[in-house]
Amino acid sequence: MQLLLMGPPGAGKGTQAAELVKKFSIPQISTGDMFRAAVKEGTELGKKAKACMEKGALVPDEVTIGIVRERLSKDDCAKGFILDGFPRTVEQADALTKILADLGMKLTRVLNIHVPAEDLIERAVGRRICKNCGATYHVKFNPPKNNSTCDNCGGELFQRADDNAETMKKRLSVYEDSTRPLIDYYKKIGIYTEIDGRQPIGKVTEDLIQILSSVKD
Ligand code: ADP
Ligand code: AMP
Repeated sequence: MQLLLMGPPGAGKGTQAAELVKKFSIPQISTGDMFRAAVKEGTELGKKAKACMEKGALVPDEVTIGIVRERLSKDDCAKGFILDGFPRTVEQADALTKILADLGMKLTRVLNIHVPAEDLIERAVGRRICKNCGATYHVKFNPPKNNSTCDNCGGELFQRADDNAETMKKRLSVYEDSTRPLIDYYKKIGIYTEIDGRQPIGKVTEDLIQILSSVKD
């Protein structure tokens, strides 16, 4: 299954991708996670991405497309994958079609997690992530049992530098301008489904699995 999880920042893509990874045993490919790892390691890629991420702007298409091409070519993607946070522009979507065609693949389904703009700042500002295993929590909607450590591994939780109200406003405006047009892009191809992301996390997962149960390959 070649899946694309879409939705604005804070919609729940990463949270749901983690559940789909467990259910279908296919890798999650998150460009945001890849950029954060590169920034942490201080690589050339990290240097290119850092300033854009801090401002809430997109990393240039040519950089982003390059890392996705490389990642999708790895063996673990041969049986499928879950893209999370890519594509974010029409140019990236066109490039994805081409990359997949070169690999003899195409997208099976595009799943858009719909959450209204007014909920998204609260979601991002309350997000906490485990430094060790990457599990995602929310201080109000999905709190860890212990305030500052991960339920799964006891790792320390941190807040992303770009998860503040000001940067989030910029990220939401970038979403409206550059990423929202992809809804029509994928509707036209006929592989698009929308999920109500305002429901509790477990119910969103149930809806996704229900939709995917009728999808072949
Ligand atoms: P994205 O990957 O789309 O940016 P995340 O999966 O990281 O979003 O979720 C953003 C924040 O919202 C996290 O703190 C997460 O715990 C919380 N969250 C995710 N899904 C829901 C939901 N259905 N209801 C309430 N909060 C949610
Ligand atoms: P995310 O983790 O998906 O919220 O992404 C965090 C940040 O990484 C974004 O605000 C962008 O700066 C950058 N980023 C992630 N994915 C992409 C992408 N597909 N294209 C451009 N920039 C991206």
